Amino acid sequence: MQKIGDIQKMHTTLEEGNATYQLPIGNEMVAMNELVGQEISLTFNGTISCSNCGVATKKSYSQGYCFPCCRDLARCDLCIMKPETCHHHLGTCREPLWGLDNCFAPHIIYLANSSGIKVGITRKGNIPSRWIDQGAIAALPILEVDTRLKSGQLEMALKDFVADKTNWRKMLKNEVEEADLVAMKNQLLPKVSTLMMDLDAVELDNEVIKINYPVVEYPGKITSLNFDKTPEISGILRGIKGQYLLLDTGVLNIRKFSSYNITLTY
Ligand SMILES: [Zn+2]
Repeated sequence: MQKIGDIQKMHTTLEEGNATYQLPIGNEMVAMNELVGQEISLTFNGTISCSNCGVATKKSYSQGYCFPCCRDLARCDLCIMKPETCHHHLGTCREPLWGLDNCFAPHIIYLANSSGIKVGITRKGNIPSRWIDQGAIAALPILEVDTRLKSGQLEMALKDFVADKTNWRKMLKNEVEEADLVAMKNQLLPKVSTLMMDLDAVELDNEVIKINYPVVEYPGKITSLNFDKTPEISGILRGIKGQYLLLDTGVLNIRKFSSYNITLTY
């Protein structure tokens, strides 16, 4: 089979505890779990079209945009990476209406284990995809607030006591130990109780979500594959974790190459 088109980050769902991946390519979706164990090849055809305006761009900015869109879209602003710096109230949001829809909506603060316990935030509608994108083996939503800004303020306060980054190499090698997320939550919340009250944060029920990934063999060492350096990438697909394809020839971060025009053969 051969599919040709612009790719986007893989769509993910959790089905009975199993991460399920679909790769958008052109107007089609390819069920990637079914390709694990098979030889596949992905060839970059040399064009990148902005995910927002469709214009051809030599370089991809902010994972799939042209330079003007990256500069003008609220979703590409620094405050998306650092939600505690939301500046909507100053009247300087790049797209105030987009901000109202996306940032003034319920957000979750969670603990996840992708390479050890970390804290993170996401829009409520974004779970469990957010955790699958990060390659977490388990996650626990702990608090809910009504804006992105408040979620960022709580995340900042919790960062004093728990990591907020994933070691992606460890995540991909599956060098992850089981961790007690509920015990960590019980340690953490008393440390931010005043802020929780100030922000009207709601504590959520203890429901740990476990996630299995379609992987037959994890890599022993990590070699990153890159369409900009190697337009033709092929190998046996040994698994998928986070937004990475784990090939026997190296790992490919699909998200990084959003909007690249690719020929996929399998
Ligand atoms: Zn654009």
